Amino acid sequence: MNPNGNKRQGEERPQRGVPEGLWQTCPGCKATIFVKEKVARLNVCPEPACGWHFYLPAAQRIEQLLDADSFEEWFTDLVPCDPLGFKDRIPYHERLLAEQAKTGMSEAAIVGRGFVRGRPVVFGVTDFAFMAGSMGSVVGEKLTRAIEEATRLQLPLVLVSGSGGGARMHEGILSLMQMAKVSAALARYDQAGGLYVAILTNPTMGGVAASFAMQGDVMLAEPGALIGFAGKRVISNTLRLELPKDFQTSEFLLEHGFLDRIVERKDLRTELARIIDYCEHE
Ligand SMILES: [Zn+2]
Repeated sequence: MNPNGNKRQGEERPQRGVPEGLWQTCPGCKATIFVKEKVARLNVCPEPACGWHFYLPAAQRIEQLLDADSFEEWFTDLVPCDPLGFKDRIPYHERLLAEQAKTGMSEAAIVGRGFVRGRPVVFGVTDFAFMAGSMGSVVGEKLTRAIEEATRLQLPLVLVSGSGGGARMHEGILSLMQMAKVSAALARYDQAGGLYVAILTNPTMGGVAASFAMQGDVMLAEPGALIGFAGKRVISNTLRLELPKDFQTSEFLLEHGFLDRIVERKDLRTELARIIDYCEHE
């Protein structure tokens, strides 16, 4: 609970005349926070007792975790298509164009090579903003190729998951196959002695959680992230059980042995460098 909850109650709604987007209500502590201050803290709530980790776009993830200008993006020529001619509310090919225009990304994953405090790594990140970060063929292929490059170059691998969508239904079985494909590539990487650090962010669900996100040699997560396979309501209805309040959170998963460590966003880069040093030099 936020100790300032009462004190700041009067600030729940931005006052008239205040430019939109200047203030925001934090879902964690319900306080009204100054957006600029949040952004300056890597999109983390500035309230001392809260520290709610807001969404961070893939481009900012790269900026935050990798050394300045060290990232070289790979496989930018891979772009999604619509092999099934799928249509829900709108045709999938139109949806793709809209998502690309909205996010400025060609797909939900970005992969490449960069440096973490001077240590070379192969790096990948999935972004919730693009179709909930779901793993379509291109996301799976980019990740697989990145893993294969990490194997070939004998570099540590860091994958950041921000995927709430799991498999992408618009690509049917082609999407489901990506789970096996990335997992097979990770198995070969593991056999070659590679170090894979998985960083789970809010949310990591479905087929992504059931494949690469949960296969790290070292499993890190940001505080308060939603992590799981099926949604809480589905599980609760199927089992007819009341689930614990913190079910499918980073904290719950750490307690139950799924995670190795919860790391605040501001500490992730240093922690990554430390883990790489520790594992590479035994
Ligand atoms: Zn907060």
